[in-house]
Amino acid sequence: MSNLKSNVTSFLFFISVLSVSAQSRTEIAIPDIPGYKTLKCDFHMHTIFSDGDVWPTIRVQEAWQEGLDAIAITDHIEYLPHSQDLAEIDHNRAYEIAEPLANQMGVVLIPGSEITRKMPPGHLNALFVTNANLLEREDWMDACLEAKEQGAFVFWNHPGWKAQQPDSTLWWTEHTQLQEKGILNGIEVYNEKEFYPEALQWAKSKQLTLLCNSDVHAPIAMAYPGTHRPMTLVFATEKSKGAIKQALKDRRTVAYFDNQLVGSRQFLTPLFLGSITIKTKQAGLENHQLKKIMIHNSSDIDFHLKQRQPSIGFSYPDEIILEAHRTVFLDLTGTSDEVKTMERLQLFYEVTNLNMLSGKPLPVNLEVVN
Ligand SMILES: [Zn+2]
Ligand SMILES: [Zn+2]
Repeated sequence: MSNLKSNVTSFLFFISVLSVSAQSRTEIAIPDIPGYKTLKCDFHMHTIFSDGDVWPTIRVQEAWQEGLDAIAITDHIEYLPHSQDLAEIDHNRAYEIAEPLANQMGVVLIPGSEITRKMPPGHLNALFVTNANLLEREDWMDACLEAKEQGAFVFWNHPGWKAQQPDSTLWWTEHTQLQEKGILNGIEVYNEKEFYPEALQWAKSKQLTLLCNSDVHAPIAMAYPGTHRPMTLVFATEKSKGAIKQALKDRRTVAYFDNQLVGSRQFLTPLFLGSITIKTKQAGLENHQLKKIMIHNSSDIDFHLKQRQPSIGFSYPDEIILEAHRTVFLDLTGTSDEVKTMERLQLFYEVTNLNMLSGKPLPVNLEVVN
């Protein structure tokens, strides 16, 4: 009897532990930069209101658990495989269902839709729409003009998607048309598990906002087991819809996928410098000596450093990984008498997993007082 009771007790305990751990949020450790909050966002995902597998509130819970600040549910306007199971077609419904929970959980929910056409122009996400039902138009340009009328921020989804651009990733005259009309503002350089180098070039040459989104259809944990989803880092003055919209218009974004950041140098540099702390206050290096410099990385990203050029008076490692949430040391070796007279020791690296709009790795200088 007592055995049974203890079994029941431990079973209940097991359930309660499970339910507690299922409700926790993991914060993403990527620092704010001077003047802006770094918001972790995913602006492309689906629910049962198009071809996704989940109910809209699940997207909010997933985002909250994974430490995201803002999401957009962007169900297809033109592709609704579950329509027979829906009482009526209402493209605003997913947002309406998810919004109260998003407000409670502090996740900024941005209304959105995916305008889903064959190439050209392919698939386009319209964010900040005020009435998604009005995007249901015969002509794709009419749908785009309607999005613009509603003040939407529009970006081109998965431009290199093999189903639509099998041989090469092309920019079509229709995209030029959309941009000239002030409709097309951004482009996904990364979607689901795919990076599009061409899109990065266009983001730079055509001044489009970089986006990096999951386009998730399944539950998120099934889509990215053991790793984080791709996300768009948005540098906003505050965590609000208005500030996010302004940041997207001003191209204040960086793509974050796997262990990689891609974006403008003006954002990558402060992200890197805000993540690391040189713990060693003074090196005190002289010729023929070996001194250790301690560096801590408080972010979630492992930084892969490669030497750009040697320094004068001392040598330092060609390559080093500043691991996430770890402190590592670098060995500096004095190679000439000159080093003793140097006030500061400069180490010239590039971060190979932080890529600028040119595609090149981010150059960084580490400096320590001698
Ligand atoms: Zn799509
Ligand atoms: Zn999609």
